[in-house]
Amino acid sequence: MRNCIGFFGGTFDPIHLGHLRLALELKQQLALDEMRLLPCYIPPHRASPSVDAQQRLTMLQLALKDCPQLRWDARELQREKPSYTYDTLCELRSELGEEVSLSWCMGMDSFATLDSWHRWQELIELAHLVVIARPGWEMPTQGPVAELIAQHRADADAIHAAAAGKLVILEPRLLPISATEIRTQIQAGESPQFLVPDAVWNYIRAQGLYGSK
Ligand code: ATP
Repeated sequence: MRNCIGFFGGTFDPIHLGHLRLALELKQQLALDEMRLLPCYIPPHRASPSVDAQQRLTMLQLALKDCPQLRWDARELQREKPSYTYDTLCELRSELGEEVSLSWCMGMDSFATLDSWHRWQELIELAHLVVIARPGWEMPTQGPVAELIAQHRADADAIHAAAAGKLVILEPRLLPISATEIRTQIQAGESPQFLVPDAVWNYIRAQGLYGSK
């Protein structure tokens, strides 16, 4: 059987149960051998003032400590500048080989603007694209992204038959949790307990992140 690895990128500022639950459901639904969460680099002017890349990574590591099903991959943070998905996928492909099935998972919000990404038409040659429907975001019905869907759309099973080249659209259940709301809550002195893993909330308080006291 072909080895199948999924990747789920995000700022994870902070990682919350919505991200974790989705990553696990994707792993199960797609029958992946491995699922990695990949925190992306945030330029200093966009970053949360009190939280650096290492702290975002530490929160992710704490969140995954009791979940052997999910892994973290810090390669984009290590580059210390924003990464093109194209470059990340080239690196993964050369590291993991031509045979392994790679699935790059993203929300419909990101996918809708795919044609503005660096070398976007080559992404599907490097990996499968798994698109997650999100409330408020329609699938493009015309233009270059709609053409990509028409050419490559397949059922979830197809990612096991090839290393790359399929586009899968899924509608998993999404927990209504937002990192922005969590940051606002903490700043206002409220607790985000039960929205983030306890280990992450303890770390946020110990480090005084997001204005916590
Ligand atoms: P913000 O609220 O600050 O926009 P976010 O959690 O949406 O934060 P990211 O950390 O970048 O932002 O999210 C990473 C990925 O997780 C994105 O692809 C996004 O579509 C998805 N995501 C965000 N919130 C949820 C959720 N509640 N359930 C499932 N997936 C989510």
